[in-house]
Amino acid sequence: MSTNIPPEELWRTILGEIELTVSRANFQTWFQNSTLHYADEGVAVIVSPNVFTRDWLANKYHKIIFQAIKSSNPQIQSVRYELSSEQHGNMNPIGKSGIRITKRTKQKDTPIVQHSRRSPELNPDYTFNSFVVGSHSELAFAACQAVSENPGVMYNPLFIYGGVGLGKTHLLQATGNTIANLHGKNVMYLTSERFSHELITAIRERTAHTFKSKHRNIDVLIVDDIQFLAGKEKTQDEFFHTFNELYSCRKQIVMSSDRPPKAIGAIEDRLRSRFEGGMIADINMPDLETRVAILEKKCERKSFQVPRDVLQFIAAHITTNIRELEGALNRVVADCQLRGCPITTDHTKELLSPMLGGGRRQVVHSKKILDAVCGYYNIPANEIIGKSRKKEVVVPRQIAMYLLREEGGSTYPSIGSVFGGRDHTTAMHACEKISSQMNANEVLYQDITFIKQQLYV
Ligand code: ADP
Ligand code: MG
Repeated sequence: MSTNIPPEELWRTILGEIELTVSRANFQTWFQNSTLHYADEGVAVIVSPNVFTRDWLANKYHKIIFQAIKSSNPQIQSVRYELSSEQHGNMNPIGKSGIRITKRTKQKDTPIVQHSRRSPELNPDYTFNSFVVGSHSELAFAACQAVSENPGVMYNPLFIYGGVGLGKTHLLQATGNTIANLHGKNVMYLTSERFSHELITAIRERTAHTFKSKHRNIDVLIVDDIQFLAGKEKTQDEFFHTFNELYSCRKQIVMSSDRPPKAIGAIEDRLRSRFEGGMIADINMPDLETRVAILEKKCERKSFQVPRDVLQFIAAHITTNIRELEGALNRVVADCQLRGCPITTDHTKELLSPMLGGGRRQVVHSKKILDAVCGYYNIPANEIIGKSRKKEVVVPRQIAMYLLREEGGSTYPSIGSVFGGRDHTTAMHACEKISSQMNANEVLYQDITFIKQQLYV
């Protein structure tokens, strides 16, 4: 017996469930463009726009999808993942890992020798091989690889975001290197500050024309730290036109930012919507095992001989970001080499104790917390401590109170007084509310994680 729920309706219900369990970036990327085509006779067929999405759903999300389908229609016994008909045969196959394997297609008319003008800013040390993938970076990594193999085809633009020192530049550079090597394309890599600086110089020296053609006559544009476009109107305007020009010629654009497009303040909506128009992938702090693996990889590349318990110690104690993790390792190795002593956990502990705050948690100053929250949500300080009841202010205010308590070690009464003499019960209520919602609301959780990272930079 089959139920009579039409597939579109069933899909909507399923999406509603899935949306609660996966991050927004994942949801938008993997689910929104797929549909439930058929659900009958115990089989559900999900159709995706490309091979990559199809395989990603099948490999990574099957369990969640299957559960959600079953809870709406218990008769479904299996799920098939298919391509939408117009995409058949269009894409390359995907390897077991879910990462596409490219067969390089040789176009008969293309000359064999291609001159790739590669940005001098591309550092060949940043490769996909030297990047350790963990669940913190899986999506971003896979997206960058997909883009490297088929630039301009699937995820355009690709927008990677995450806190400082988490590997954004590494991934962007690896993407640029791979595209230049594999496809011989002209890759331009630059930071948004550099873009802005070059534009200002061009205006001053009346070479705007050269500036325009330089940035538009390329195959791939990679712009790192795009958040620095905020507040720079002229640069945004020029970037908007460059973007459109490249995009309309199906040239790949890759960007990174320390926050998702919606959280970049002082940026024009037309740009924001361009940023959101392709694929957005986040990158987080890796878990302990991945941190150990990253340290091992660094040792391997630099031929360091470091005992495993030392690596374990460093990975367990440096939890801010990967740049610091690497810095701690270098410091320990350099110190022991200089002294000619063996690398031991005791010595490491002693050496890193200033970074570890003497074993105690470092207490963050209230102003730093307020600045970080206001900066993240782009609201003025007087508004956050003021009386506004607007939702855009109330939630950040509660987050600030929560962080003052958790990271600043403040008491409820002192939090109340920071916020214009509010009662301590208001602070208490805010802290409780945020800590309970954080577990259920992934966006909130990510926002707070990001702000926390800023506090310890
Ligand atoms: P971001 O641009 O996000 O601030 P970077 O890309 O500059 O961070 O990364 C900081 C350092 O950490 C770099 O040396 C980079 O090679 C290293 N790193 C970051 N993530 C990884 C990773 N997953 N595997 C190996 N090294 C990494
Ligand atoms: Mg960077």
